[in-house]
Amino acid sequence: MAVEIVNPYDVAVAQFDEAADRLGLSQSMRAILRKPKRELIVNFPVRMDNGDVEMFTGYRVQHNINRGPAKGGIRFSPEVSLDEVRALAMWMTWKCAVVGIPFGGAKGGVICDPHNMSRAELERMTRRYATEISILIGPDSDIPAPDMNTNPQIMGWIMDTFSMHMGYSIPAVITGKPLAIGGSEGRLEATARGVLVVTREAMQDLDMNPADCSVVVQGFGNVGSISARLLHDELDCNIVAVSDISGGIYNPKGIDVHRALRYSKEHGTLKGFPDSEAVSNAELLELPCDVLIPAALENQLTARNATRVKARLVIEAANGPTTPEADHILNDHGVTIVPDILSNAGGVTVSYFEWVQDLQRFFWAEHEINNRLESIMSRSYDAVRRKSEEQECNLRMGAYLLAVARVAEATEIRGVYP
Ligand code: NAD
Repeated sequence: MAVEIVNPYDVAVAQFDEAADRLGLSQSMRAILRKPKRELIVNFPVRMDNGDVEMFTGYRVQHNINRGPAKGGIRFSPEVSLDEVRALAMWMTWKCAVVGIPFGGAKGGVICDPHNMSRAELERMTRRYATEISILIGPDSDIPAPDMNTNPQIMGWIMDTFSMHMGYSIPAVITGKPLAIGGSEGRLEATARGVLVVTREAMQDLDMNPADCSVVVQGFGNVGSISARLLHDELDCNIVAVSDISGGIYNPKGIDVHRALRYSKEHGTLKGFPDSEAVSNAELLELPCDVLIPAALENQLTARNATRVKARLVIEAANGPTTPEADHILNDHGVTIVPDILSNAGGVTVSYFEWVQDLQRFFWAEHEINNRLESIMSRSYDAVRRKSEEQECNLRMGAYLLAVARVAEATEIRGVYP
């Protein structure tokens, strides 16, 4: 058997190539869109609490900015690599295009273990990283946001650092900020709310009654925990298992999501949650359920476990959770996959609203945000479904065909400079 592609950038390029073939893109257009436009690597010192100086490596990659300023989150993790950031930047380009918001794609990351750093160390590292990448970021050029292990406070430090250098406040340089400094109502929940919309639409297409559906969610951070809560509270789904990095908890009768949220906050882990069976993250993906929502990290569904997935519907809340090989296996088994570039686009959609509000200094009410989000997500789901029916392909290819064509059109119109 051939070695499975798991390098995230190779996965992203393979997905793009498949769409480019179907669209019949020219060789020159392919060459342009396959490569990130800019890649910045920064190595920088940070003084730790014990007085030692440690060197950190960070990245900011802009994949394509032909449809608008670059947009994409910042990830703090020991696993961050240039290829991971490149892949995530490319996925951001397609994601913004698939939901039709005027941004290009970018991503950033720092190789670090934020769980083993004090708050003061994290703040110094964040501020120094923000300074290092300030040659790229700005409200008109590149607007970061939260991703794995980064949160509104970290966005606040980046906004403050950038503003200190300029001498006045520039809230529109970053999204996902706390409300007090120009954040948006609804941003914290936005990615999960988008997950809720596409899950509801896909269930309807598959004649699945939400109240009869059991759901497994991998990852209990911003996206996973709020998705579990909204699916339980607003669609009446039965959440049978959830997990974090320490492993999963399973109860076929249902997990009390609100209690799990409180428990996770209090203990910093789901481990030991009462009235549930402990399962590993690998076992979790193979549990009997109707809907599986990977909401943690890349390469969770692979050629090794795809045949044992029991769910009928997979909602990719994480970026890149399915390898191309697993994708083919799941498709052959009749599993419907709502792809990441559509499923988790609610986050960047409300980030767009936050940026617009910051630029206009005019803020909207939460119900306006949620209504606009709802309409963009359901309209985008519908467009992807129609494209996949028309082209007789799965939803992932439908989303890629829409997105890549939009980016290619913008690139074609702008032309090759000079
Ligand atoms: P987060 O840091 O808030 O939460 C991540 C969760 O995953 C945590 O519960 C963590 O314990 C768990 N986790 C980490 N490593 C794991 C492992 N090896 N196995 C199982 N679980 C593990 O991050 P988040 O913002 O919720 O992001 C999750 C995913 O959603 C990422 O793929 C991210 O790129 C994607 N995403 C996030 C946003 C957003 O707005 N935050 C938007 C779009 C996509």
